[in-house]
Amino acid sequence: GKRIKALTAEEEARRREEIKEKLREKLELEKRALQVVERLLEDSVAEDFLVDCAKFITPANYKDTIEERSIAKLCGYPICPNKLGKIPTQQYKISAKTNKVYDITERKCFCSNFCYKASKEFELQISKTPLWIRQHESPPEIKLLKKGDGGSSGEEVMLSEKRLKEEDIENPLNDRRTKDPVLPLIDSQAQHLIQKRITVEKLTSCLRNIVGPLHLTMSDVSTDLNSLVRTFRFTNTNIIHKTPEWTLIAVVLLHLLSEVSPAVREALKRSASVEYLNTLMEELGLQEQDVLNLVQLFKPPKH
Ligand SMILES: [Zn+2]
Repeated sequence: GKRIKALTAEEEARRREEIKEKLREKLELEKRALQVVERLLEDSVAEDFLVDCAKFITPANYKDTIEERSIAKLCGYPICPNKLGKIPTQQYKISAKTNKVYDITERKCFCSNFCYKASKEFELQISKTPLWIRQHESPPEIKLLKKGDGGSSGEEVMLSEKRLKEEDIENPLNDRRTKDPVLPLIDSQAQHLIQKRITVEKLTSCLRNIVGPLHLTMSDVSTDLNSLVRTFRFTNTNIIHKTPEWTLIAVVLLHLLSEVSPAVREALKRSASVEYLNTLMEELGLQEQDVLNLVQLFKPPKH
């Protein structure tokens, strides 16, 4: 028994040593990656050097490189020697050519559409395998984009044109589009669209659970809900709530919709509905009167 114990202790010590060795190796590789990033921050980097670097860095290292270069007012694409001019402050841009909303957060780090696209291409070719397990894979063959292969205005925001039209609040976009696609107004308009979309999505996912027990369907409420949400004044903070808070908001809004929708009004009158909503509110630590008080806040004062 003793001998086995001695052996396992020895085994244990060896395994520990191995793990330590692996850790040392990992740290060494990470240190080298940072040194490579530093080299990539120089004004202009040779093409073959950039290609060679892909072996030693992760996509995250490369993203850091782009960011660091742009902070230093250098084009994010390491082989480009251009300085960045005036950097636009907005996050979104409407392309006059494609009539789409673009997120230009990343695009702003580059001197041209070409450099943006070439950099993206390079980034996508960097192996996602962690540095310390790479010795077992053959390094990928990196191809750099050549001039004349075109470029891109930014990441397309997942707002389809169809959706923009349906919600028919993009008129200001349409008016401005042909004049100047980079006015800050469009930025705030695009932001507003996104804030509204987030709100509608959150409310819809809460209501989807609630409408069933009330014998309503989503189509009974969605049109009126959309019109109501359209009147809201959004900020970056008043659209952030926890799920129970969204549930409460959804219930209050449902009561407000009963003012315009006979179907909702009838549904909320049923005693089974009242009971269900009371139970739901109890789970949030609220009583029926609390909700009714909130609803009251939205109603015009009685004379
Ligand atoms: Zn450039």
